[in-house]
Amino acid sequence: MKKIWMATAWVVLGVCVAQAQQKEVRIGVLGLFHSKQIVVAPVLGQPLQCSAGGGPWPVRNQMLVELAVPKLRIAGTDNSLDGPITCDNSQGGAAEIVVSVPGKISRRYRGKLEIRTESRELRVVVIMALEVAVASIVAAESPSHAPTEALKAQAVAARSYLLAGKGRHSGYDFCDTTHCQFLREAPAPGTPAFQAAAATRDLVLRYKEEVFAAMYSRSCGGQTHTLNELGISTRGYPYFGVTCDYCLRHPEKWVVQIQSADAAGLAPTENSRLNLARKLGWKSVPSNSYSSRAQNGAVVLEGVGVGHGIGLCQRGGADMARHGASFLQILAHYYPNTEVKQY
Ligand SMILES: [Zn+2]
Ligand SMILES: [Zn+2]
Repeated sequence: MKKIWMATAWVVLGVCVAQAQQKEVRIGVLGLFHSKQIVVAPVLGQPLQCSAGGGPWPVRNQMLVELAVPKLRIAGTDNSLDGPITCDNSQGGAAEIVVSVPGKISRRYRGKLEIRTESRELRVVVIMALEVAVASIVAAESPSHAPTEALKAQAVAARSYLLAGKGRHSGYDFCDTTHCQFLREAPAPGTPAFQAAAATRDLVLRYKEEVFAAMYSRSCGGQTHTLNELGISTRGYPYFGVTCDYCLRHPEKWVVQIQSADAAGLAPTENSRLNLARKLGWKSVPSNSYSSRAQNGAVVLEGVGVGHGIGLCQRGGADMARHGASFLQILAHYYPNTEVKQY
């Protein structure tokens, strides 16, 4: 009898430890749409329990949440609510939830949901298990048909980024745009992105025994940048400029023209590029590798690469994998002087 009790206690303890280790990240989603209305709906046959105004709020078909500055309101009710609306699987765990901006977009997420008001719009945050977020990022960030080893390298980089890069926004850790990283829907089990996350579960990049928020971008133009080169202060991993054979042979070239007034103060730093991107759009200066010249009262930039060009180059990594490199070799190439370890 005593043995059975002890065995049961060990199982319970094991479950508790496993739950404590189950890390979560808070992702602000669909922020690009600056929504004033959000529709929340369950996935057919799966439980979805929401809470609003301090009490449970059952959602059978769907729930329309509207902005009622400075509060929010559930459509069809008179009372506006102070606090957030939260949703889960009715047991405090992750649910399958379809979140829509009416007339614009609809996405399915796996996690717990929070909707609140912020800056005169609705802020939607999905609290998801770390590994669900990793798989979702691999699916959204990777070039189509990227080989398995490239997806695994992306998974390790994304996991490191999520663990070490928290706190980029107030109230949530990361957004789902290029400002933080792309994240759309969780990939289905059996898909390449799902398998890449599962195959590298718990593996992270470390520099001097610390996990760091590994950066990655779409194509580097042939040579990756150090943080120093782009005017970013270095506390942890400084990054190293490495040659990228694929981008040298197949650079993504671009030419843009910017009004002289907008180009004033433009410097080859990531901050300067992002400032202009906020003003003129994300594609206004596609990368940090360019030359500039004045022409007819404007400034013409001619460059190569897409993204900041720091760390893993997604196109280059995919090419290395096509030529037989393992995910460890890809990571060692783009993140020299680091190690891949279980966190
Ligand atoms: Zn962000
Ligand atoms: Zn590259």
